[in-house]
Amino acid sequence: MTLLGQPNRQKLPKIPGDPKSKNIIIYAVVVALLMVVALISGKLHMEYKPDTDGKTAEAPFRVHVIDVGQGDSILVEADGHAMLIDAGEPSAAPKILQYLQDKGITKLDYIAATHFHSDHIGGMAEVIKAYPPKNIVEPVCPDELLPVTSIYERYLDAAGNSGARYRALQAGDRFKVGNARITVVGPVSAEAEDLNNTSLVLRVQYGDCTCLFTGDMAFAEEETLLSRKFDLHADFLKVGHHGSSTSSSEAFLAAVDPDYAVISCKKDNDYGHPHKETLERLKVHTDKIYVTAEKGDIVFQYDPSTGKRRIVTGK
Ligand SMILES: [Zn+2]
Repeated sequence: MTLLGQPNRQKLPKIPGDPKSKNIIIYAVVVALLMVVALISGKLHMEYKPDTDGKTAEAPFRVHVIDVGQGDSILVEADGHAMLIDAGEPSAAPKILQYLQDKGITKLDYIAATHFHSDHIGGMAEVIKAYPPKNIVEPVCPDELLPVTSIYERYLDAAGNSGARYRALQAGDRFKVGNARITVVGPVSAEAEDLNNTSLVLRVQYGDCTCLFTGDMAFAEEETLLSRKFDLHADFLKVGHHGSSTSSSEAFLAAVDPDYAVISCKKDNDYGHPHKETLERLKVHTDKIYVTAEKGDIVFQYDPSTGKRRIVTGK
């Protein structure tokens, strides 16, 4: 069959009312419409920017482990909603605020304080004042473990005056950030004997991707979580207590079985973090171990449309 629109067709005599001509006109209209559709889809295709360098495309779910030196500060983004877990030492506040600004964060749905040590709540007052959040969450903590420090007082004042919904959480509580569903798996009870073991432990699920944020939880609380038979499996693990050897037991890591493990600590820190025993235990499960001291800011991305997970590092 000869295709309509080719030059030789124009030489055919036009006969008004000829059914053949009507068919030709209908055919021409259909072909023209198809061409318009093809042009539009072609244009759309041209406007799509493929992820050629592995860094340009942004997934709807991202976890940023911000390099705050010795401490933790983690930004979780889901569908344009955001949660900040911890805020480093007081000296980390300018870095965190700059990071949030650079990433285009205009509001925080949640600020979570995993526990009340200065390397986790140090910059919290400044962040709360600059980004008044909708919610502030912290762990249930025995009174006798509450610190008597100016840093804790500043955090309390900022949280209390923020206008946020301010709550203490424990295992079994749940909340959402965008389409990310967050389950609190620790602390299990308010009976911890050490502030690190009061850590808020958050399991974040987005699509079929899971992340576990463990604060500075140590062996004793890990054992408690295991004994309660919580589902601890996670694709991404924020390794407990800056990679200390007193966290991340073999049994705990077997339950989590992470594909990606990120440690937040300062280069040449006073504690020797991350400890080599921890790194050895992690290596049983993954060779994708990243340390902020070496890599700077570390971003984990998950795209549910492709199932693709990847890490982007600052260095
Ligand atoms: Zn810490």
